[in-house]
Amino acid sequence: MSDIEEHRKKIEEITLEMIKLLKTRTDIAKQIGDAKANLGMTVTDEEREDALRTQVTKLCKEIDLDQSTALKFLNLLLNESVKVQSDGKQTHLSVFLKAKALEEEGKKIIHLEVGEPDFRPPKEVKTALEEVYDKGYGKYGSAKGITELRKELAEAERDCTVENIMVCPGARFAVYLVITTLLNPGDEIIVIEPAWPAYKDCALNAGIKVRTIKTTLETKWEPSIDQINNAINENTKMIILNYPNNPTGKILPKELLASIIRTAKEHDLYVLSDEIYEEYSNDDWHSVSIYDYDKSIITRSFSKSHAMTGYRIGYTIAKKSIIDKMSKLQALSLTNVSEPIQYVALQALNADTSGNTEIIKSRLKTLVKIAKDIGLEFIEPDGAMYLFAKTKYKNFDATKFSEKLLEHGVAIAPGEGFGDYKEFFRITAIDETRLKEGMTILDTVLKETV
Ligand code: PMP
Repeated sequence: MSDIEEHRKKIEEITLEMIKLLKTRTDIAKQIGDAKANLGMTVTDEEREDALRTQVTKLCKEIDLDQSTALKFLNLLLNESVKVQSDGKQTHLSVFLKAKALEEEGKKIIHLEVGEPDFRPPKEVKTALEEVYDKGYGKYGSAKGITELRKELAEAERDCTVENIMVCPGARFAVYLVITTLLNPGDEIIVIEPAWPAYKDCALNAGIKVRTIKTTLETKWEPSIDQINNAINENTKMIILNYPNNPTGKILPKELLASIIRTAKEHDLYVLSDEIYEEYSNDDWHSVSIYDYDKSIITRSFSKSHAMTGYRIGYTIAKKSIIDKMSKLQALSLTNVSEPIQYVALQALNADTSGNTEIIKSRLKTLVKIAKDIGLEFIEPDGAMYLFAKTKYKNFDATKFSEKLLEHGVAIAPGEGFGDYKEFFRITAIDETRLKEGMTILDTVLKETV
């Protein structure tokens, strides 16, 4: 056998052996996952991960192996463990699907778990839908979106041109594109929890390691710069921000946000700022666009501001090179966003949506008042459309509570869907009559439970 053949044979053997070891590792991870689920523990244990990371770094020095490659490989292994251990987590979506199934059986459900406005889109949308056929929209188009819409969206932003905008089928897809195109397997991102679960899920799907920063009610859901600095290492590439926040409604103080952006700049990190709740915020909110950071990417949507969740339309704002990269994957995966819907969104921009903002504000006020009367513990939301609360009872299991509450016709979102928050649940500020009805049932079931 020639030298090269011999080496190739060895490589094959080693690779197959590594695959077998991966199978053994995954089986053990699954067993650990079952044990954690029985004990009510969370999936990710960052301390254990750090300890393993230290051992890998040490080994790399001993055997003279490139540390960055080894750590990326470790991240892939850690992600596989998270994946096999994450089955069965209850999220707002799983509760929603159960609630829908109950409705099909004829049960009446009050939906306090959903993340969408329950009012209609503006009348401009109706008119646009009526006229779009005759306008001739409906052919294949540019992956970045129709120019008229991109132009209008750009005009509403600071220092922004049409080249900085890409229309997407919803902010969710925009988040997926950002994470999948800008990062590589083994890279790390920082997610501040509690958080909308899609950031973590997108990263896991793309082989990217998530470092979570746990914030607490006691510290008003504010991360510290120390926490962020401690989570950064040579593989960290992005930090994700979402303010006003889903699920807490929190808006960060201006100085803290500025410090986070400064930290991101120091470490050359991308900042993905999901600003979908921009219109549902009090006056203290401002976009990260004010920092003129060229590695920031902003995602926005018509879903919440214009109550157009099912139309599937949102957009991304970033520097041209980032937009170009993202548009390649968008072209590859869906050619272009539906042209008729883009036209409808363009017309929707003419609508005055301040009424929606007022409706949500008023509902949140009502929700806060009822929640206080019931004795729930929370900080008052600065925006978005939710309340993230716990009860005064120690070790309260909000997942079990949400299951019981659903039997009584009220759906809420268990906190575990947003991170390590098993005692918490999220309530959406829906129309006041239904909200009051739902909260009365919640109070009664809570008293029966504890
Ligand atoms: N970001 C956050 C924080 C959300 O809560 C949601 C929807 N629940 C989205 C993005 C997705 O929005 P879209 O409908 O535009 O995909």
